[in-house]
Amino acid sequence: MATYIVLLGPPGVGKGTQAEILAEQTGLAHVSTGELFRENIKNKTELGVLAESFIHKGELVPDNLTIAMVKERLSCPDCGEGAILDGFPRTPVQAEAANAMLADLGAQLNAVPYIIVPEEVIIRRLSGRWTCREHGHIFHTLFNPPVKEGICDHDGSELYQRDDDKLETVKHRIQVYIDRTSPLVEYYRTNGLLTEIRGDQEIEQVTQELLDAIKS
Ligand code: AMP
Repeated sequence: MATYIVLLGPPGVGKGTQAEILAEQTGLAHVSTGELFRENIKNKTELGVLAESFIHKGELVPDNLTIAMVKERLSCPDCGEGAILDGFPRTPVQAEAANAMLADLGAQLNAVPYIIVPEEVIIRRLSGRWTCREHGHIFHTLFNPPVKEGICDHDGSELYQRDDDKLETVKHRIQVYIDRTSPLVEYYRTNGLLTEIRGDQEIEQVTQELLDAIKS
């Protein structure tokens, strides 16, 4: 049966970096809603135009748009073995929709690793983050620098700083997380799916603990 994992945690704890590595190591698809939105914005699709102003302000994109996008993504062939969901669900309504979507696929959520780091670390991480234009690979000037400055190690495309990684927007995104997403911690704890993982460790150590959480 297919495996579905939700990576939970505030912005900047390393969900994107870890999801990328986990996808590579497990063969599951990496489904990042933030990255899907950014692709839609880049390609100026109808969804991209609708989502852009919310993302720019650090607000959540409305549930109905987000849920429809994820549903479509999960029906793609590369999600046949399952997926690492990175950045979804972010509200209780999305969590219910995720359950329904997976039930429709004859599956269910297998694990919800919850990555925690202190708030000052989040701010430091997001303000040094660089994202690749082509595929959204993630680097950091201090913690995970690219071999060649400004260039993605994986595909050679340009690295850029997301405009929602500006300090004021980062602070707002953290508040949005606290208000709208943090209730999911108790929701998944009650379901018995949650495992807490400390994100302020070496990248490899975090990956190992995530793999252990997924396997158990
Ligand atoms: P991320 O790359 O996960 O930090 O997401 C970037 C931005 O995309 C967020 O700040 C939101 O504006 C939007 N976004 C990503 N995932 C969701 C979601 N599940 N629900 C609503 N908005 C989202």
